[in-house]
Amino acid sequence: MSETPHTAEEQVAKKLAAMFAPSDANYVFVCLECRTSWWKQRDCKTTRGVRSGKTTCGDCGNELTMAIDKKQ
Ligand SMILES: [Zn+2]
Repeated sequence: MSETPHTAEEQVAKKLAAMFAPSDANYVFVCLECRTSWWKQRDCKTTRGVRSGKTTCGDCGNELTMAIDKKQ
């Protein structure tokens, strides 16, 4: 079993999370189009939606990417 290589998108997402979200944020998700990030301290409808790819950016409609997920 080899480790799954990180995609470029994942790396950008993590970078955005590091720049904008507090370091102790439990859940951080980003829009790679707008380069915007949001964060939550608790798992909720929004974080679950992002994880399953059902939540899109309110500005551009792009699918949001989970950058930091405490649950995983
Ligand atoms: Zn967007």
